[in-house]
Amino acid sequence: MIYPWQNRQWQQLQQQRRQRRLAHGLLFTGPAGTGKKHFAHVLAQGLLCEQPDASDFGCRLCDACKLIAAGTHPDVHVLKPTPPPTSTSSNPVLTIKIDALRAMYRALSETSQFGGYRVAVIEDADRMPTQAANSLLKTLEEPGDDTLLILVSSHPHRLPVTIRSRCQQIRFNLPDTAQALAWLGQHGIDDAQSALKRAHGAPLLAKDHAASHAQARDLMVQALNAGSRGQASIPYANKLAQLPKDLLLVWLLDWVSDLVRLLTVGNDAELVNEDQRKVLQARAQKADIGRVFSLHDQICALIKAEGIALNLQLLWENLLISWDNV
Ligand SMILES: [Zn+2]
Repeated sequence: MIYPWQNRQWQQLQQQRRQRRLAHGLLFTGPAGTGKKHFAHVLAQGLLCEQPDASDFGCRLCDACKLIAAGTHPDVHVLKPTPPPTSTSSNPVLTIKIDALRAMYRALSETSQFGGYRVAVIEDADRMPTQAANSLLKTLEEPGDDTLLILVSSHPHRLPVTIRSRCQQIRFNLPDTAQALAWLGQHGIDDAQSALKRAHGAPLLAKDHAASHAQARDLMVQALNAGSRGQASIPYANKLAQLPKDLLLVWLLDWVSDLVRLLTVGNDAELVNEDQRKVLQARAQKADIGRVFSLHDQICALIKAEGIALNLQLLWENLLISWDNV
């Protein structure tokens, strides 16, 4: 099933399919954590199912549905970014390899094994190097019959305009807060409001934050509050370097943004890290706004440089020093 906030997109695509107007290239865009990849898989299942239900969802019981669920349907090809083959880094740069794309083109050019649609899903499509992206153009221009190529990207501006212009863009916005909170509640998430706030409204990220990311956040909280406990924060750099960098950078940016809010709006400011209000207020009293802004810029630049390999130990040492000195 799709997520409750994806009904509009589902109706739109199913209507196009019934009218035989479904585009050969779809580009799913919108913020991370809204379920775009999941939607692509549910769409593929609905298209290939032998007995879809009245709303065009797959039955989950037929051979096609079972093969898709197992990831082994011969007419469904899923590409995800992978690390370089020889990488030993804990934080490798992930890309979509051109060889993997070529294998996918070959598979798509063959006759459908089940006599229906052939579907290719490229997850995080913006992780395609330009050469690989350009190789997609031919498939987008001359797709076979009943071929559907779905590109999924939270950063579509990074895709060449030639690719974007050849796809029908389907946007997945953040659901409204009430809907997101209701969904988180159904999934047993405690304090869904805080989790959703920290995930900037993206329900799937909020669910991750509340579940698997809880430990990572605890560590981050300890590191950032070490100074206020009279301890050094540097020893935390090693542990932070083992955790997903992109996620932690966004969290750190939230902390620094909370400081900016306290310094500019005052103690009534609404904070992302509401549970840390006391320590943030104490920190804001001693902070220099110039240094806070400069740390803010430093983190933004690092977030933008996503995809560039960095020495994470050094990165976190530098950031913790800057944080301690704002
Ligand atoms: Zn089925």
